[in-house]
Amino acid sequence: MAEKERNLKKVFDQHVQLEEFFTGFSVKPGKPAQSQNDDTQQQLDQIAKEVETCRKCDLGSLRTHSVPGEGNPHAAIVFVGEGPGADEDAQGRPFVGRAGQLLDRIIAAMGLKRSDVYICNIIKCRPPENRDPRPEEIISCLPYLKKQLELIKPKIIVALGAHAAKTLLETNKPIGQMRGKFLDYYFDDFSPPIKLMPTFHPAYLLRNYSHENRQYVWEDMKKVLLELGLEVPKDRG
Ligand code: URA
Repeated sequence: MAEKERNLKKVFDQHVQLEEFFTGFSVKPGKPAQSQNDDTQQQLDQIAKEVETCRKCDLGSLRTHSVPGEGNPHAAIVFVGEGPGADEDAQGRPFVGRAGQLLDRIIAAMGLKRSDVYICNIIKCRPPENRDPRPEEIISCLPYLKKQLELIKPKIIVALGAHAAKTLLETNKPIGQMRGKFLDYYFDDFSPPIKLMPTFHPAYLLRNYSHENRQYVWEDMKKVLLELGLEVPKDRG
């Protein structure tokens, strides 16, 4: 087999392994459907409306759709990513591209469904060419996320990747040093903190595939399940 073909096969095999690894065994029944007059849902909808017309930074005029976030308004776990990519911008929904498909598998591997959790991002509009969000964009957008977290009151926030973890924890530490340990997220100076688990972003996992990285994320998710008193699905190799 020519070298190029061997490399292609290797990449293909790695993706298949990654997908198989994060395929859930036991998917728990979802929570009851959100009721129309759920107050938290209504307030989250209100935030989504504000985001839709937001022009606090330049990204507001560059987006196709804003991506406020979605999921269970009473979720025990909120996953926070960096910001929408092209697929999310096109659909107005978070984590629907390749990284999103991997996140779905991670959630399924935890024995949960997407509708059990809430999924959102640090910034609600796509930066052009998928560049990193700028500090002023993060500063303008952060109040939306803070309000969402205050309303949902999750037991655990999973920060997906460096941007989410650094922003929420107000630190510059590398994600490799932070991941795997529960850290405290504070709404304000008065409320008790919420536990935050930093882990690798699914897009990082796709770009830097290794058994080790895959296992790190799974170890982090097992800690989240244990902390919530949820069953940890059978270990995977
Ligand atoms: N990456 C993110 O950080 N967020 C998304 O919604 C999609 C990809």
